[in-house]
Amino acid sequence: MRLTDPLTQHFRIDTIHQKALGRLGVITVQDILYHLPQRYEDISNIQSVQGLVKGQDAIVYGQVGGLKARKAWKSRIPIAEGWIEDGSARIKVMWFNQPYLAKMLTDGMYVKLAGKVTGSEGKLYIANPEIEKLESLPIDRHDSIFKGTGNDDETIYPVYRETKGVTSKWFYHTVMKCFEQGILDAIEDPIPEEVLKRYHLPTLATALQWIHTPKKADHAKSARKRFAFEEVFYIQTAKALSRARIRSSEGYVFKTDPAHIKKFTERFPFALTKAQEKAITSIFKDCNGEYPMSRLLEGDVGSGKTAVAATVAYATVTSRPQSNISTKSNKGPSFVDSLEYGNLQVAYMAPTEILAKQHFESFIEYFHHLPIQIGLITGNGCMKFPSKTDPTKPTNISKAQLLKWVKNGEVPILIGTHALMYKSVEFKHLALVIIDEQHRFGTNQRKQLAKKDSRMPHLLSMTATPIPRTLALTIYGDLDITLLDQMPSGRKPVITKIVPKGKENEMYDHVREELKAGRQAYVICPRIDEPDPEKETAINAKSVTEEAKRLKAKVFPDKRIAILHSKMKPVEKEKVMSAFSKHETDILVATSVVEVGVNVPNATNIIIEGAERFGLAQLHQLRGRVIRGTHQPYCFVVSESKSDKTKERLKALTTAKSGFDLAEYDLAFRGSGELYGAKQSGLTDLGMEAIKNIKLVEAAREEAHALVDNDPELTKHPAIYRKVSKIVETLHME
Ligand code: ADP
Ligand code: MG
Repeated sequence: MRLTDPLTQHFRIDTIHQKALGRLGVITVQDILYHLPQRYEDISNIQSVQGLVKGQDAIVYGQVGGLKARKAWKSRIPIAEGWIEDGSARIKVMWFNQPYLAKMLTDGMYVKLAGKVTGSEGKLYIANPEIEKLESLPIDRHDSIFKGTGNDDETIYPVYRETKGVTSKWFYHTVMKCFEQGILDAIEDPIPEEVLKRYHLPTLATALQWIHTPKKADHAKSARKRFAFEEVFYIQTAKALSRARIRSSEGYVFKTDPAHIKKFTERFPFALTKAQEKAITSIFKDCNGEYPMSRLLEGDVGSGKTAVAATVAYATVTSRPQSNISTKSNKGPSFVDSLEYGNLQVAYMAPTEILAKQHFESFIEYFHHLPIQIGLITGNGCMKFPSKTDPTKPTNISKAQLLKWVKNGEVPILIGTHALMYKSVEFKHLALVIIDEQHRFGTNQRKQLAKKDSRMPHLLSMTATPIPRTLALTIYGDLDITLLDQMPSGRKPVITKIVPKGKENEMYDHVREELKAGRQAYVICPRIDEPDPEKETAINAKSVTEEAKRLKAKVFPDKRIAILHSKMKPVEKEKVMSAFSKHETDILVATSVVEVGVNVPNATNIIIEGAERFGLAQLHQLRGRVIRGTHQPYCFVVSESKSDKTKERLKALTTAKSGFDLAEYDLAFRGSGELYGAKQSGLTDLGMEAIKNIKLVEAAREEAHALVDNDPELTKHPAIYRKVSKIVETLHME
């Protein structure tokens, strides 16, 4: 048996089960060994039915049978009764006042019951036990896991994620058979021994044994730590490799001397914040030609990332292309002050058309005094600034015309959506790629934009998505991170109020006053329209369409209300957004699509319905929509939840200092599943667990970097190389 063998080579698995396993990604022997238990069940306290005595708190596993509902003949109390059988014996079970239980359960069902043994000798029964339905029985008591341990405390067994027809028990037994065939002897550990020693981690073979067949809880814990470490370590290694590869090529040199840059920034209608200045300085350090920059600029909504982007774009379009080789040797760069054809170019990509347009408009503001043409390309057409007929305005132009000017260098700044990635888009000297609100942008896409033959452009990625530091270190391991951790002064912080159900009137009164004073408002709902039958939790959530109708009929009859959601056509969305930003509507009822970057300074109120369904970081981003203007912004967080935990969690919105604090809070209290960026991270549940542990993440990162520094092609570590290649593939990093 070898790790790469398909399971079907050693086990009889019918095609239905093969398919089911395929869905879990379990095909080879290695896959099943890496199908780690989700949790462990401690069954030291399980009793066998045979030995039950009166008065005992029993936990039994077995099959139910003989279920029926009746009424007690004297008291007429409704009773559900039946029996449970576990192989050793059967015992009667009775539920009083819960006759429906007999209907919920069916004979032959596997259950776990926990309740008190009562009755009289010979007529014992379990009264009102709690029920947990099971797919199958846990590993039988008489199974090998309990053999030879000789200790009754050591009774934990693994529970695996199941799939249709493939039970946890099957996984367990199949793994056991692999172990019996000596698979562990053949396993080599890709992770160097000294690394394992440094962090007291078990070897791969030991870890596999411990995680699948722990003799004690500590073993399972130690093994999980190893797998968590290795997962983060492999991802970090992949990122470190990609970073090293990019760093080995040369980048463009920009004209960044302070006097030159000042000419641009001193025209801003505001002074740059310290954080903006620092960010610009660190970006410019990367633009000296040594290597192409890969930088993430992370800053709360409204922290002024666009101004930073514009400044870097300015440095780009005022620089000439040149060879670094000559620069590095003697001559020094030959910059020109004037803007001429053939200067370096910028591509600025936004995730939505609305945003691309807004950036286009901001860039016109920033650049209109210079003889610089700015292009806009989206799926719905192209624009160019300035227009020939009216140089103060942009104009619609054909795609063919725009692309011609981009290709010959006449248009040095091209802003757009994913349409920028079209094959037909070619630049003369693309030297800087700016990505707004995009989590992943691989080496290949960068190269693809620049087209073959030319140098790798610098990459400036920008995000307002606050994610915890550990997650950032992991998923952005290939990027240098700069934080814009300061808001422009004079911004009024949002006043945030948590509104429990039934207390909405005060909120509506407030918003009514605000609207009367000329402001606008967003109302965010968790869903668009019809309930999603797949998700029980969504059924009570307010929908955009219904809420808009209700607000019009009952709350704001004299206001102009529009709706916006992701299922609308781009043209429609565009219309709605544009009407809202021109104040042709007063209230915009929307799903969380308004989350990213929409800028309407006059909208200073936001009501978020069903707030408990959002992560705190996401709520924070939504709230960021209203801090654009000079008026006092308000955020109303409406929650129907009665849970204290939820209330506590939402309260953090009123106390946290920044989005990053909230992201950390999400990580700690909400489980990683709903964490921002988690989906794209490629981390398993175990890896996400690991993200909670900063020490582990930093250690894995350090080791990954050391490894790549010493062995840049991983030739000395072929097993790690194989692991990493797989990650690169699944994360589409190339
Ligand atoms: P974001 O980081 O969310 O992309 P923007 O770049 O859109 O933020 O900036 C938000 C608003 O703040 C814009 O109207 C911009 O003109 C303004 N702004 C940017 N920097 C400053 C600053 N240093 N002082 C005052 N206002 C600023
Ligand atoms: Mg922005």
